Amino acid sequence: MNTIRELKKSDLIKAYTDAGFSTETAVAEIDFAIEIISGLTPKDLIIGIMPSLKDIQKLYETVRTRLSTRQPVAQILGYSFFMGCKFEVSMNTLIPRPETELLVKKAVEIIKDNDFKQVLDIGTGSGCIACMIAKNTHAQVLGTDISNNALKIALNNAMHLDLMNRALFRKSDLFSKIREEEKFDMIVSNPPYIPPCEKPHLQIEVREFEPEMALFTKDSKGLEFYEKITSCADKFLNKNGYLLFEIGIQQACDVQKIMESYGFKNIEILKDVTGIERVVAGVSAK
Ligand code: GLN
Repeated sequence: MNTIRELKKSDLIKAYTDAGFSTETAVAEIDFAIEIISGLTPKDLIIGIMPSLKDIQKLYETVRTRLSTRQPVAQILGYSFFMGCKFEVSMNTLIPRPETELLVKKAVEIIKDNDFKQVLDIGTGSGCIACMIAKNTHAQVLGTDISNNALKIALNNAMHLDLMNRALFRKSDLFSKIREEEKFDMIVSNPPYIPPCEKPHLQIEVREFEPEMALFTKDSKGLEFYEKITSCADKFLNKNGYLLFEIGIQQACDVQKIMESYGFKNIEILKDVTGIERVVAGVSAK
């Protein structure tokens, strides 16, 4: 890892595998870092387009930090990708996960089918859900978060994606700053859903670097926020409005029960590409 005059991917991959990572992880992270740093894809490299010397040095530096601290590459570089768009991230926001695409895709489908206009995204974090719903529909999306630092990032993301007039952000603890007369056609949320007892089993990258308040619930089943959001959702939904959640592994049944207990109907459970139940959707009984 000492010669930093040219890009030698094999050296970087070896540094990863020496540190105990698989070759697949190494390749994926190195390609990701190159794309974030210099905008070049693996295809560009194959046809001989190379990053600048400055970018190569930044890449080596990034890999060194990544392997010595275990901090996720997205956080070191301050950016990640979600649904093909570049999103700013920080230690105050969850790094957008590929499985969250399913929630956005389902939301977009329902919004288009019903010509919905107003959407609320609770716990918006980096704003990835709010921005991608706004980008792919004509709806206006209000993203809320309890964290000022997360809201700043969400706002930057909306600005860079040119969505300032349709992805709006507000500081609010769940519904605390949503006025009674504000009504939405859809409420979406990817809330914290990891029970505290699971903390020791999480990867260091998540446990040490991602914000606790974005990850953990207080209750032992990870259901705290599904309960809190569902119990108030009806008040802020229009007639036949939808409630959509991303859920953790094996939470589908419990979340379905919570939604049914507050009168939500036509409950649908969707599986992600790996076959895990990831999204629960339901219609307000109003
Ligand atoms: N809505 C954001 C995301 O899905 C943040 C979610 C969270 O912090 N729990 O990435």
